[in-house]
Formats: sequence, C-alpha cells, structure tokens
Amino acid sequence: MTSALLVPSPTSLPVAGSPERFFVHRVYCVGRNYADHAREMGNDPDREPPFFFAKPADAIFAVDEGVPARHVAPHEVPYPPQTHNLHFEMELVVAIGRGGSDIEPHAALDHVWGYGAGVDLTRRDLQDTAKSLRRPWDLSKGFDFSAPCTPLVPASGGGHPASARIWLNVDDEPKQMGDLADQIWAVPDIVAALSRSVTLLPGDVIFTGTPAGVGALVPGNVVTGGIDGIGELSFRVV
Ligand code: MN
Repeated sequence: MTSALLVPSPTSLPVAGSPERFFVHRVYCVGRNYADHAREMGNDPDREPPFFFAKPADAIFAVDEGVPARHVAPHEVPYPPQTHNLHFEMELVVAIGRGGSDIEPHAALDHVWGYGAGVDLTRRDLQDTAKSLRRPWDLSKGFDFSAPCTPLVPASGGGHPASARIWLNVDDEPKQMGDLADQIWAVPDIVAALSRSVTLLPGDVIFTGTPAGVGALVPGNVVTGGIDGIGELSFRVV
C-alpha cells in the first residue's frame, strides 16, 4: 500500500545579497514595546513586562517575491476578510539562528542570526472585540499574508542594530517614524524573555513591536517603510 501525504511548502525568506534562504519555523510577536505606541493604545508603558503572541509561520512572506503558489504578486498584499479596520505596524524582525531556553540577556545576541523589517498587519476591529470579550487575539493577528517582510540581513555582515530609524508611509504620507533605541525592551531582553516561555529553535522569528502612528489601510493604498541599515519594503493593498 502507498499513501500520499500532502504537505505545503515550508516558509522561507530570502537573505539579502545571497542566494541562501532562511527557513521559518515559528513567528512570535511582542505586544507593546514603544512607550508612545502603548500610550496611543490606552496602556501604561511603565508597568508591563514584555508579552507575546504568535502568528502562523506562513503568515510571513517576502514582499519582493509575493507568494506565487497562492497567487499573491510581488509588492502586493491582499486585503484580508472579516475586517473593516486593517492596521499597519512596522517592526524590527529578529531571526533566531541558534536555539535555547532560559537564555541570559548578555548572551542573547549570540542566538540572533539576522534582522529584517516587517509589518505586523492587524485586524484591529477583531482585536478590539477580542479584548472586550476577553477572547484570544489569534485571528486578529494571525491570518493569511499578515506579516509582509523584507529580505533578512545576517548579523555576521550587518551587526546588531541598537539604534536606527524605523518608519512607514502610506501613499507617501509619513505615518510612523521612530527609532529602535526607543524600544522599552531591547532585542536581548526580548530574546531572553521569550526563551523563558518556550525553547527557541533555529528559524524562529520575533516581531519586536511598533512605534506610534499605527492606522488603517484600504485597498489601493501603497505602503512603504523600513529600517535604516536593514531594509525597505513597498507594497500595494489589493
Ligand atoms: Mn505589533
């Protein structure tokens, strides 16, 4: 007897300046990590340790490539179903190269393979409903194509950025403008904190939170953004 097991292609991201691919294992995200964004969402930034949520691994994809197998063209992001309030959140993306648990902050950067710039797309209306009903956030954050990303830059070449401009424009209008130095929890703290809850593995990626200025997208909008020294992306909402 033979049987066929249908398995989707594993998710991977391109590596800047290289033919190599980074294979994605899991996608984690930090909830609030810039004081000005915590305040604009009605929260006190001084009281909270970092908290995490997750997206399916295949939520992440390279904007430059699209997802040909699912008919998403390069530089396009489909407007998702079940929302009338799709928000953008530009974020530093950390790619884990070496796994571990209970990682100490002073050793955490040894576990980071590289960095990208990605957008944590959010069905804000579903998230607001989930918050008010004390239900899970999952489907407000984790949906098809909800994590468009740049190619990844290896830390071996680009280092570990502690300070860099992070920005996002919609139709050439500036919406988000911040600096990685304004993160409440820096990358070593985030990696260490997450590794106390799960064993990190190679291929895990972490979205590290967004600065203030989040807002809604509608079909036809052109989003541009990025992080200086790491990368830029551009896509149209279709
Ligand atoms: Mn976010």
